[in-house]
Amino acid sequence: PRGLALLRDPLLNKGTAFTEQERDALGLRGFLPAHVFSMQTQVERVMANLRELPNDLAKYVALNELHDRNEALFFRVVCDNIDEIQPLIYTPTVGLACQRFGYIFQRPRGLFIAACDRGRIAELLANWPYSTKLIVVTDGERILGLGDLGANGMGIPVGKLSLYSACAGIHPELCLPVVLDVGTNNEALLNDPYYIGMRQRRLSGAAYDEFVDEFVTAARETFPGVMIQFEDFANHSAFRLLHKYRDIIPVFNDDIQGTAAVALAGLFSALRVTGGKLADQTVLFLGAGEAATGIADLIVSAMMAEGLTEAEAVRRNWLVDSRGLVVKDRAGLTEHKLRYAHDQAPIEHFLAAINTLKPTAIIGVAAVGGAFTPEVLQTMAGLNERPIVFALSNPTSKAECSAEEAYRHTGGRALFACGSPFDPVKLDGKTFVPRQGNNSYIFPGVGLGATACGARLVTDEMFMVAAHALAQLVSQEDLAQGSLYPALPRIREVSARIAEAVAVVAYNSGLATGHAPNDMAAFIHSKMYDPQY
Ligand code: NAP
Ligand code: MN
Repeated sequence: PRGLALLRDPLLNKGTAFTEQERDALGLRGFLPAHVFSMQTQVERVMANLRELPNDLAKYVALNELHDRNEALFFRVVCDNIDEIQPLIYTPTVGLACQRFGYIFQRPRGLFIAACDRGRIAELLANWPYSTKLIVVTDGERILGLGDLGANGMGIPVGKLSLYSACAGIHPELCLPVVLDVGTNNEALLNDPYYIGMRQRRLSGAAYDEFVDEFVTAARETFPGVMIQFEDFANHSAFRLLHKYRDIIPVFNDDIQGTAAVALAGLFSALRVTGGKLADQTVLFLGAGEAATGIADLIVSAMMAEGLTEAEAVRRNWLVDSRGLVVKDRAGLTEHKLRYAHDQAPIEHFLAAINTLKPTAIIGVAAVGGAFTPEVLQTMAGLNERPIVFALSNPTSKAECSAEEAYRHTGGRALFACGSPFDPVKLDGKTFVPRQGNNSYIFPGVGLGATACGARLVTDEMFMVAAHALAQLVSQEDLAQGSLYPALPRIREVSARIAEAVAVVAYNSGLATGHAPNDMAAFIHSKMYDPQY
């Protein structure tokens, strides 16, 4: 029966691409139709089948099934068609997949660690058959912009890790998706007969912290040196967990730090156009959550690297939240906003804040659709020759403005980046090609660099060099057409360069394990999984 077992093992299966010799040697005769296909033809067939399917969720399920059947082919399909597949295995489709997770769940692709597993998390982790180097973990409380989806949040770590392997070539066997099922406060899920998670309200307070800590400790013991990425935790957990662990073990939070690096890269690209210095910018954020404060913190670090004092750098970053400008005298500000609560009279409206503060850049991360009104854009264009306008909120309905609006209301002068995809815009005979400031430009490369050298911590400096590396890869042609990021099909080259930069920081700051390789590029490439038979 070994031939059949082979066909059923996704790590070894090549399907109709098994060669004549392999079919003889491995007992495959009879199980496969006569014609031997090339991997290339298999990829084309998968894509043709996919395009026939009625909707994105069906495509998501089909891609999952392929992943379960033939891992190399799945990753080949993703790598060769990244523009078309990324939105299917990650945002926006993954959001829908999480909402329907109980209905589409077929086979495990990660570990569900539930509140009832308290005290035995190490045993669960030991069930995982591979020596993991990278964990993406969520507690499902803030899945994308969809809120508390409990254990259904598993779709997020699964999708992120697929991107790690596809975009940066981190070997899939080194990757472990985890959901911490601490319950859910989502009534609809608690009442859903098909809900897959614990039917109880979320753990909170000390019980929650102890549970997370048991997981982190057990993960470190089971997989020594493992890097842990926190994903889609709610504000009240995200900042706390990051600060608790970031100075002792290799962890990062992509919603905070990955977002920060991709936005900073966009700023560096924009400054390549204007010729300005980061340290001279004034940045006004709409939003004061994980994305906004994460970006602001990294901008501060980068401004300090250009010579500003911390106080000077902090004061060049301003936040507007749901109650107006964040200022010193406002009562009840949450911890993560305090750094940016400047001495300044209160201002309620975003437009008024623009008129008072005269920012060179506005960054929208409040998930308030249409908040960059024509008046906001016109005001920015009046204040700046080349206003920097980033509308990063997702999904498209939450975008602060469309690409077309950004260009139209600034006379084509905006340096624009978006969180949701927008088609090219034609204006006055010129074509602008806006590109998405997608976190997938950053986290795969950072993860590859950090795991390749066994980094003991993931530092701000690593995200800063990642941002620099990404901005450097934007070509003059890209900039000329208004693109602040490279084309997505270059993602493996991008990730490799980011990984090199991150590893150099790790070695130079004594955070890497072992000696630095002589040829960093070759070293990084040697760690990259290439989906081939
Ligand atoms: P979050 O932590 O929940 O923060 C949202 C912030 O928006 C909060 O500070 C909130 O204010 C503020 N807000 C809500 N309504 C507002 C209003 N009417 N006016 C001004 N501010 C308002 O969420 P997040 O993780 O930062 O994500 C925010 C958005 O950014 C999402 O749409 C997300 O998809 C997007 N994002 C994009 C990227 C990317 O493109 N690469 C990466 C990450 C996130 P309060 O603090 O007062 O509640
Ligand atoms: Mn996220």
